[in-house]
Amino acid sequence: MIRTRFAPSPTGFLHIGGARTALFSWAFARHHGGQFILRIEDTDVARSTPEAVQAIIDGMNWLGLAYDEGPFYQMQRMERYKAVILEMLAAGTAYHCYTTPDELEQMREKQRAEGLKPRYDGTWRPEPGKTLPTPPPGVQPVVRFKNPVDGVVAWDDLVKGRVEIANAELDDLVIARADLTPTYNFCVVVDDWEMGITHVIRGDDHVNNTPRQINILSALGATVPLYAHLSMILGDDGQKLSKRHGAVSVMQYDDAGYLPEAVLNYLGRLGWSHGDDEIFSMQQFCEWFDLDHITPSAAQFNTEKLNWLNAHYLKQADNERLVSLVRPRLEARGVTVTARPSLAAIIGLYKERVSNLNELADAAEVFFIDLQPKADALAQHLTPEALPALADFIDGVKNVPWEAPAIAALIKSCIANHGLKMPKLAMPLRVLLTGQAQTPSVDAVVALFPRELVLKRLERPRGDAE
Ligand code: GLU
Repeated sequence: MIRTRFAPSPTGFLHIGGARTALFSWAFARHHGGQFILRIEDTDVARSTPEAVQAIIDGMNWLGLAYDEGPFYQMQRMERYKAVILEMLAAGTAYHCYTTPDELEQMREKQRAEGLKPRYDGTWRPEPGKTLPTPPPGVQPVVRFKNPVDGVVAWDDLVKGRVEIANAELDDLVIARADLTPTYNFCVVVDDWEMGITHVIRGDDHVNNTPRQINILSALGATVPLYAHLSMILGDDGQKLSKRHGAVSVMQYDDAGYLPEAVLNYLGRLGWSHGDDEIFSMQQFCEWFDLDHITPSAAQFNTEKLNWLNAHYLKQADNERLVSLVRPRLEARGVTVTARPSLAAIIGLYKERVSNLNELADAAEVFFIDLQPKADALAQHLTPEALPALADFIDGVKNVPWEAPAIAALIKSCIANHGLKMPKLAMPLRVLLTGQAQTPSVDAVVALFPRELVLKRLERPRGDAE
């Protein structure tokens, strides 16, 4: 049974890199009919907040990445970690170390001065035949892991390939502080072990922790999971992704008008590929997803491609669903959405032309507000030669059957009667009705409005342009 986990530290929002890690872990479990676990690594109490936990859960919900178990909170598992530490002390795979922070600092300075890599010198490490110093009174010891001294620790990373680290490079890690609170790497190890994690899929910023974690797992007699370290994500400009790049939190993509399926599809292709396939549903992604096709090189964010995907999914989306997403955006702007014109019909016409929900809201807004077209647009399009055709059109509007084909026929007859080309009448209609010179087919736009509102907008006093 495949079991994966997403193990964020709740110190901020769910960012794009974390979301991709979650997506890959989730998809891998789904692909194999396994389980996906959410674990909140909240032991850094100074930096963890309940708001950040909520932000992570909100982000996962928005993306639709459902977990089968959890959320588990490490702070609620302290007793378990302490029990394992005591077992390791008893088994001799961990030991008490009385070196004080001051002594450690002196040790490190001396090593640096001698051109050595700073490391714990093993004073309190028990060895066969070695006599340990007498514990100094009043010093609470930390607990160190007794790391193997010889050989290498190696694993076949499912993304990076074989990785080997000499044990001589690793000193004896502190696994519990003097008050017996466990340290970061230790909690991860106990959890991955006890939660039965088979595949650890995480960012490659953790690759340095892996040899230490493997050694501790081995000391515990635990099965070592397989590891897949995902390369980092760079911004559009090739620099490490950061706040400078604008939206880095998943929920900022929501604010910016992206659909979750577009973000998911985009993240799915960020460092993973299935031939040339660019557009796929999450069902398809889960069927295809494997770790063999993850690239070990850094993935570069491409906002243009995300926008293209978003435009694609907007076109596909059901109008009523889009209404539920656009209406709150309009209401947040103080726009009252009335039953007529129909927001669903407006969206149906405009969703082909926009690349995000905010643009869709911009397009829809003009139908509901007391529109005042700009004087320069009126001056440009409301030409003297257009006015008689416009007057005919206004007359015709009063009786024409209220549907796009009949309105199109009316427009045609108005321009024919005055020997005009289509834009001569279409442009002033667009500007008067929507304030914009660029719209979908003008007859379709006219038909979105109730007849009375068309008359009101076409007949309203137009100041200088009259
Ligand atoms: N809590 C770690 C983080 O948020 C992840 C640890 C792991 O995946 O092993 O970066």
